[in-house]
Amino acid sequence: MSQRLARPKGTFDILPESWCGEPWKSSALWRYTEQILHRVAERFGFDEIRTPIFESTDLFQRGVGPSSDIVSKEMYTFGDRSQRSLTLRPEGTLGAVRAIVENGGEAGDPNYRNEHRLYYMESMFRYERPQAGRYRQFHQFGVEAVGLKAWQSDVEIVDLALNICKSLGIEDVQLQINTLGSSEDRLRYKGALQDYLTPHKGLLSEVSQRRLRENPLRILDSKEPQDRELILNAPTVEDHLSAVSKERFAKIVQLLQRLAIPHVINPQLVRGLDYYSHTVFELVSASLGAQSSLGGGGRYDDLFEMLGQKARPAIGFGFGLERLMQAMQKGAGAAKGCDLYLIGLSDEAICAQFFLAQQVRGAGRSAIVHTESSKLQKALQAANSCGARWVAIAGDQELRKEGVQLRDMVLRKERFCPIDQVVSSFGLRCD
Ligand code: AMP
Repeated sequence: MSQRLARPKGTFDILPESWCGEPWKSSALWRYTEQILHRVAERFGFDEIRTPIFESTDLFQRGVGPSSDIVSKEMYTFGDRSQRSLTLRPEGTLGAVRAIVENGGEAGDPNYRNEHRLYYMESMFRYERPQAGRYRQFHQFGVEAVGLKAWQSDVEIVDLALNICKSLGIEDVQLQINTLGSSEDRLRYKGALQDYLTPHKGLLSEVSQRRLRENPLRILDSKEPQDRELILNAPTVEDHLSAVSKERFAKIVQLLQRLAIPHVINPQLVRGLDYYSHTVFELVSASLGAQSSLGGGGRYDDLFEMLGQKARPAIGFGFGLERLMQAMQKGAGAAKGCDLYLIGLSDEAICAQFFLAQQVRGAGRSAIVHTESSKLQKALQAANSCGARWVAIAGDQELRKEGVQLRDMVLRKERFCPIDQVVSSFGLRCD
């Protein structure tokens, strides 16, 4: 009898579209999404970085902080044959920061650069309880802008994050933003939270009781009903901000308003990691259910110093690719696998479509010719299952007029289009 082979818990396979029960696991959708992410990042002037899949454990312990969930219970840590402690990366910022320090030279070197705009798209590993939208191996697209201190750069990064959602056709997304103030403000606030919560410690959930000493800000993230009640009346970050930090955040909010970027100020948004200060933000999609966060990030001006380096201001964010694709498959304008599906309504018309397909492919787009003679309705269904946004239909009448009916499968609109205008007429695959 053959033995059962199974992938490790919390992982998934990315498969050809025809096998996938769930469209977000299709390799075509992954490629499409990755292409768009590269493109959008490059448009904002970011360069790609790829770092090792594992790093020294110490990097994450020092950078993410020992009290975070990631370090305290989620890392895949192992000793290699030389007894070095290594960890599969649970997040992307630390590897990027390490690579900048290691490869970027010292201030004063001829190749030293003060500013870096980098992005990555890589697998991450966290030992979490698997559920929809939460895996043990998942993928993040993240950006890190190092050397940028001005408050305006926070707005630029938020704008980039929103542009990513827009380019992927994810419309149902809310930007939540908050400030944690400077590290001094944060320390003051941490103390105030501890003072407020300690007398009620017995009422807190078990997890929050553990967080109270080391990482009380995380209690604000808790979804436990007994914690929520206490949190409602907890002191807010805002009350503990210095005038300078308050003004910084006010300017950011004003610029968001001027740019007509919809946002919600969420005073309880703190993000899990120890290294954030000032602006923190999250992009949330209601269509995702319990794991509603598509991505998030914030400013981490203290991280370089925490790692024993010269201080450098920095800001970044990370999106979960799985969640982006789950949101895309639910939203309008979902990603498509084929640019143009060509249907001929007679033998001669099918042959004629081959010429058009050649033109389309020559222009760098994908085309599939429907070669099996069948009713139009069936052919359109086939176009749909190939994920085609556009369909070119030709019968004898169109052949005579040297054109095709060009159908937009999303808007369900159709119009006549001369053959020589087809390539320039249908929408770009990646915007
Ligand atoms: P974080 O690094 O925890 O701030 O997470 C940033 C984004 O990565 C989240 O908003 C999710 O989209 C994604 N993410 C984090 N953890 C997981 C996970 N275990 N499985 C899938 N996606 C995740």
